[in-house]
Amino acid sequence: MPTPTHELRIDVAPFTVRLNLHGDLAFFLRSEARGRSVERSLSEKTSVKDVIEACGIPHPEIDLIVVNEQPVDFNHAIASDADIELYPVGALPPEYKYKSLQIATVNRFVADGHLGRLARDLRLLGFDVAYDPQAADRQLLHVMERENRALLTRDRRLLMHAVVRTGYCPRSQNAVEQTIEVICRFDLAASISPFTRCLRCNAPLRKVSKAEVIEKLEPLTKIYYEEFRRCTGCGQIYWAGSHFSKLQKRLEQIRARCTTAYSDK
Ligand SMILES: [Zn+2]
Repeated sequence: MPTPTHELRIDVAPFTVRLNLHGDLAFFLRSEARGRSVERSLSEKTSVKDVIEACGIPHPEIDLIVVNEQPVDFNHAIASDADIELYPVGALPPEYKYKSLQIATVNRFVADGHLGRLARDLRLLGFDVAYDPQAADRQLLHVMERENRALLTRDRRLLMHAVVRTGYCPRSQNAVEQTIEVICRFDLAASISPFTRCLRCNAPLRKVSKAEVIEKLEPLTKIYYEEFRRCTGCGQIYWAGSHFSKLQKRLEQIRARCTTAYSDK
């Protein structure tokens, strides 16, 4: 009797799956295939997660999977013809609102090295964002797991990693747009708390009296400003200086857009 040398594979008759994409999920398809649906031919039993990711859509982007009219989870195996409806966060039909696969609200993040401006904008709004421009993928995943953070990256392969529980791929390449996307995706509009976190190191800021910091201030700052905050991590001192009105303007722009995005939903 021959000794089996390969893992046992259960082959089945070839079958076809059709994936229907809802919301903005078509963003993940190659541009020439950007329709609302994709067809795939398969010849072995495959998890729905693998079917979805083979089309280029990372699993953290999927909030609801409906196979032949039944909601399923990522491990559901497909072995015959199937119609698969895929929904991103924020686009669930009301009858399935309790079948959500993703965590809707997260307020701690780790951003990959290409998202420095997004990390800074989120910190400006008061959100906790771990960011190290030198961090390798392995380190990002480690920080994500150890500190229970959602992963922000435009690297779809990284987002497809099996250990990623919660994450998001910003669609836009513009930092302001990305910030608005993240606030909408994770339902953060009500938690915005500007100028409470250090833009340099992510630690919280604490209000300090002028007397506590006066020795470190430039002569003109000593004269013109009365209110100060100091970073509890790196000691950086913040006040409403000339850069402040620029930041304030950026913040107002983000806030206004988030409100609009919400009323459009
Ligand atoms: Zn700091």
